[in-house]
Amino acid sequence: MQEWSLEKHHRGEKIAFVPTMGSLHQGHLSLLHRGRQIGDQLVLSLFVNPTQFGPQEDFSRYPRDVEGDLKKARECSVDVVFLPNTSSMYGSNHETFLSLEKLPQHLCGLSRPHHFRGVATVVLKLFNIVQPHYALFGEKDFQQLRVIQKMVQDLNVPTEIIPMPIIREKDGLAMSSRNQYLSVEERKAALSLFQSLQKAEEKIVQGCRNHHELLSLVKETLEQKGRIVIDYISLSDPETLEELRTFQLPALLALAVRIGTTRLIDNVLLKKPISHP
Ligand code: AMP
Repeated sequence: MQEWSLEKHHRGEKIAFVPTMGSLHQGHLSLLHRGRQIGDQLVLSLFVNPTQFGPQEDFSRYPRDVEGDLKKARECSVDVVFLPNTSSMYGSNHETFLSLEKLPQHLCGLSRPHHFRGVATVVLKLFNIVQPHYALFGEKDFQQLRVIQKMVQDLNVPTEIIPMPIIREKDGLAMSSRNQYLSVEERKAALSLFQSLQKAEEKIVQGCRNHHELLSLVKETLEQKGRIVIDYISLSDPETLEELRTFQLPALLALAVRIGTTRLIDNVLLKKPISHP
């Protein structure tokens, strides 16, 4: 893989890279479509990274569909699919990991303590292997995006990170490989994730600037139908992900919940209104 990439570098060709854990859906495909536009070469990786899963998490049952993914990759005109196995990524004597000091101490990092260490490590490994000029990441996993942006900045990684908007189902549910786990009833309940974020957004448009009121509205909406166990609801600084004490914009309104055994996340970025001179 690395030899292939270095050869493209020598030819002056730009490599766009989309790292994924596979089981591709429209969210992943939107990244691939954009990658196709900006890169001369488009690389997709499929790797369910064991080091970003906790011991009680869903690594072993995480959905895998290599055949389906390869078909979709072909349809998106991907040039190379990088499909390493666990032992080639992590030998039995692997001992180097990459941890960020602060960003993982918020949001998902609180209930998934080693998650971002696994993410940062595998992404840096993938970047070293694929040597991309551009790498595309979804805002669906906003904290992951921030971790990668910070890692690239702090370690002078010569890759431009391209954030991509969240792709949703028609009814608003953010697309996720984990949506497959949901039963019909759970899928219905999952609609309240986006609904609760939308309600908060509407309230802000109506002029609400009360931090506590907004978070309560999200909580009530999530809890209305039962079934949903809240991990966190957070209004944070989109740069540092530090919890905001008072309402200010821009802000990241983010949540994580469990529905049955499935953990789902969603967020909206609340932007500053454009001021007219
Ligand atoms: P995953 O396979 O879940 O690790 O995701 C691979 C990449 O796709 C990450 O950059 C995700 O943020 C992105 N992604 C996943 N779901 C969506 C979505 N619904 N919309 C946009 N990007 C997404």
